[in-house]
Amino acid sequence: MILQLGSQHYSPQRIFCIGKNYAEHVKELGGSAPGQPVVFMKPVSCLVPPGETIRIPAHGNNLHHEAEVVVLIGAAGKDILESDAASHIAGLTLGLDLTLRDVQSDMKKKGWPWEISKAFDQSAPLGTWTPHDGTLPLDNIPFQCSVNGVVRQTGNSVEMMFPIPHLVHYLSGIWELMEGDLIFTGTPSGVGPLKSDDRVTLHSDLLGTFEWLLA
Ligand code: ZN
Repeated sequence: MILQLGSQHYSPQRIFCIGKNYAEHVKELGGSAPGQPVVFMKPVSCLVPPGETIRIPAHGNNLHHEAEVVVLIGAAGKDILESDAASHIAGLTLGLDLTLRDVQSDMKKKGWPWEISKAFDQSAPLGTWTPHDGTLPLDNIPFQCSVNGVVRQTGNSVEMMFPIPHLVHYLSGIWELMEGDLIFTGTPSGVGPLKSDDRVTLHSDLLGTFEWLLA
């Protein structure tokens, strides 16, 4: 999928995802706060633009929405300082880290990798981009997720245990970040099940409104 931001085009090759980045969400899943960012990846083939229909996968029984702020890297870099992180960010949007919660629990119990619960086809619905021109406050992005018009998740990037500049710093210490890389920055509390014919809406006053239908 080619991502467009103004006149710029990006061809993402990697999606980094952060788990357990909001204290209240960690609590609702019964876990404990991690001492460092929890990192996993999804293939870019998981991305779904707004307005498309998402098929509920057949290999699980409990598909959950996880609303997240998503960062687009616009300038490559290795070992990026937190103080320089903002200059590597091209844009921001909202996305869903769709998760088969029952399958994820099973994988965790077995100590197995959890890709089949999080990295299946269409598991990464993604909004369109707002440029990061320095005026978007990385540490104060309010957002919410509604299902059929009822608000399920309300969050703000200020609540992140590992804020966006730290995530850029941390990830770039392990991978040389590339133009087009995406970072799903974790979900606040309120995650819950989706079923056929549900309409999921992500909204932020700063980033816009994006919607998907479940089939
Ligand atoms: Zn997530």
